Amino acid sequence: MYYNEDTIIYLNGEFVKSAEAKIDLYSQSLHYGYSVFEGIRSYKTIKGETAIFKAGEHYSRLKNSADAMNIPFTYSSEELITATYELLSRNNMQDAYIRPLVYAPANMSFTKNTESFLVIAVWKMEPFLGEKLLKVMTSSFQRPNPKGFKIEAKASGHYVNSILASQEAKARGYDEALLLDINDFVAEGPGANVFFEKNGKLFTPPTKNILAGITRATVIEICKELDITVEEKYFTGDELKEADAAFFCGTAAEVIGWESLDNVKFPKAWNETVSSIIQEAYQCKVLHKEFKRSFVRA
Ligand code: PMP
Repeated sequence: MYYNEDTIIYLNGEFVKSAEAKIDLYSQSLHYGYSVFEGIRSYKTIKGETAIFKAGEHYSRLKNSADAMNIPFTYSSEELITATYELLSRNNMQDAYIRPLVYAPANMSFTKNTESFLVIAVWKMEPFLGEKLLKVMTSSFQRPNPKGFKIEAKASGHYVNSILASQEAKARGYDEALLLDINDFVAEGPGANVFFEKNGKLFTPPTKNILAGITRATVIEICKELDITVEEKYFTGDELKEADAAFFCGTAAEVIGWESLDNVKFPKAWNETVSSIIQEAYQCKVLHKEFKRSFVRA
């Protein structure tokens, strides 16, 4: 699914075959989850060009994540963006998921390293199909305590929490998990941020206890453009269950509506929600399509 014998990756400044690349078994990253990464998408736009969505934002978050974790990072966003376009072209891909990972050398102690390694892999991602609404379950797992982790960093180790929560939800017959923060307020999904809609207004948790998603920022940007009120505030799962609608947003998930939370259904038909307007406007943005305000439903 991710690669075959022809797949090319970008590894420490060179384009090499994925199947021939090696990683050190003594890497601190493999043993302790000490690495940082990004999840980026490229799209074939309506003009037929390849466009990486918010490439600058993603690569600057990668650098910030590396800095937060004391992982050496010597690349500029410009060179990484250029390399990524070249990588997409070498793999003959337009609609793709792009995964940069900055990882540590062999080091079985907890000391800081003087070097790091960078790999960028790309794989094919089908364009959005998502009509199906999600059945979401409140997880028994909380998001990591921001006093124990640099929660603003997209660090690999944090994703053990995401894996546990997501697997728990799926084992119980749900599509995805919703995690609360250390104060039992709603935080985010295992790999996406959350919004809810009430009386035509949108609400989302503040960035303190969550990953500051680039899609989340894009949703807020769309709200400003379309004159939709959006408020950042802490809220509980009970308040969320009183909402008209809710959705996850993230690079991979894009904007995806919910059917229910803990089997409590959201009352508004998805295609009558303001949230569905955001979903449509987001699709337009990634595809460089003009979004016409006439679409806006009252
Ligand atoms: N929260 C978590 C925990 C995530 O892993 C992601 C995906 N990167 C997001 C939120 C959404 O972030 P983005 O919109 O930047 O993809």
